[in-house]
Amino acid sequence: MEVVLQNLTKKFPSRDRKKREDVVAVDNFTFTIPDGKLIGLLGPSGCGKSTTLNLISGLIKPTGGRIFFGKDDVTDLPPENRGIGLVFQNYALYPHLTVKQNILFPLENLKGKDKLSKSEMLAKAYEAAKLVQIEELMERKPGELSGGQQQRVAIARALVKMPRVLLLDEPLSNLDARLRLQTREEIRRIQRETGITTIFVTHDQEEAMSISDMIVVMKDGVVQQIGKPQDVYDSPANLFVAKFLGTPPINLFEGQVKENRLYIGEDAVLKIKGVEEQKVFVGVRPEGFRLQEDGPFCCELSGIEVMGRDISVVSRNKASLNASIRAIVGAEHLGKIGGGYVGDADPDRSEEGVFTGESAPVEEKAVATPVRFALNPGKVFLFNRETEERIHFEV
Ligand code: ADP
Ligand code: MG
Repeated sequence: MEVVLQNLTKKFPSRDRKKREDVVAVDNFTFTIPDGKLIGLLGPSGCGKSTTLNLISGLIKPTGGRIFFGKDDVTDLPPENRGIGLVFQNYALYPHLTVKQNILFPLENLKGKDKLSKSEMLAKAYEAAKLVQIEELMERKPGELSGGQQQRVAIARALVKMPRVLLLDEPLSNLDARLRLQTREEIRRIQRETGITTIFVTHDQEEAMSISDMIVVMKDGVVQQIGKPQDVYDSPANLFVAKFLGTPPINLFEGQVKENRLYIGEDAVLKIKGVEEQKVFVGVRPEGFRLQEDGPFCCELSGIEVMGRDISVVSRNKASLNASIRAIVGAEHLGKIGGGYVGDADPDRSEEGVFTGESAPVEEKAVATPVRFALNPGKVFLFNRETEERIHFEV
């Protein structure tokens, strides 16, 4: 089922009595969610994800805009007539009912022509239970289940009526790390098997990236970017999106474009074309650094973290907006650091750390070890200092 959001807007009266302004929880959201896809709605807490989901479910009414399921305008329909399945962070199961009774519950409330016989209901309940692999738990009470199992029951209950649209609001947040991974794969499998158009809300970028066909990144009620996860990662529309996606996060610097060169601090790190001379913010993905003996970008090595396949080279630079810079390079470079790729300590630099008498005396003077990088231009993004919008460049 295609879901069309047309200029969807929701304002709440401010909770703060002194502030008269409304909170715009969702601001003019327009998007067509393609049939059968899983959409990840992503953003920090308070950005309007749940409000968007609750508008689609009908739990709250929009201040403006329309919602269509296929050709049907559902904007004024109550939730029970929209054909949706809902799953929340806290599983919201009925504690006094068994798993089977919980799953049967939505079916027992069907009226009129939709009413089912007892055996039809049971068949559907077992079908939904099988989909989430909890058939053997049907006689238990929710209190006798693990968090992951409870969330599966909640998903089965949401699926039992074969909804037109499945809406999941942070469904994995209460699970431990291992179960979170496992359950998100389950959700992906179930979504593929049923082909139900699904909207999955999360504040966890990795979770959204890993299971979604498309992600929608929101900030302060405003959609920042919509696209396939890899496309959004590879081409963020603005500084916010660049910062929000990726682990380790993108490295940010103050930079400048001058005479067709991109500078970070004093270092001319790339030759670029098509950008007016200006001060910029520079974002470099951790995988965008290459260790190079005569590389143009010089940082101060602070440490190496071994991660198995890769190593993380941690360094500092005066122009960095983060406390430290993280470069991810292949573990085969491990032996080279301290060797040819990392230069000998710069004697001028080591003078800078001289003790001034302000704090406890240091036994030995810290000697800064320089580390030099070349940057992969495809992993470097420039942003306007005022608007924080992306500035595209050519190489
Ligand atoms: P998210 O799910 O992304 O964390 P929400 O959609 O819950 O964000 O909230 C978006 C904004 O709307 C927040 O600023 C929140 O405080 C506000 N908000 C949400 N629900 C209400 C409400 N019922 N009354 C007033 N403000 C609300
Ligand atoms: Mg929420």
